[in-house]
Amino acid sequence: MKYNRDMTNIQIYDARQNKVVTVERIERSDSEWKKLLTGKQYEITTRKGTEAPGTCLFETVHGPGIFRCVRCGTDLFGGATKFDSGTGWPSYYEPVSPLNVTEKSDRSYGMVRAEVVCARCGSHLGHVFEDGPPPTGLRYCINSASLKFAAK
Ligand SMILES: [Zn+2]
Repeated sequence: MKYNRDMTNIQIYDARQNKVVTVERIERSDSEWKKLLTGKQYEITTRKGTEAPGTCLFETVHGPGIFRCVRCGTDLFGGATKFDSGTGWPSYYEPVSPLNVTEKSDRSYGMVRAEVVCARCGSHLGHVFEDGPPPTGLRYCINSASLKFAAK
């Protein structure tokens, strides 16, 4: 697969169409996001906050459906890849496509972690750790305030 290096356009996987599509990158200022989001959504997606564990909106949500970016609607995680990590945060073993999320090195709080952001709008989603279950061994630890769920 060829990556699109265009500054304004980006290729992402669209789960509903089951194909890779080219969409416009979404860039907004902090103050624009503040107007568009709830206080909690803004704090987490834009200011890189972390919600309190156990406050997850999706504790009981499993099965068919897709978790999308709360800011731009990009498909991020399939319901079937969600697992109970016992951490109090929604956890997935893989994104719908590596195209849809971007990993960045995060050195805050004296730790080196891999931050996960939405590839289309740059929204802070959470972090990925290498202690997840098969088949990937990865654990995407995501703030539920960064997501919205669309049942299939
Ligand atoms: Zn997004």
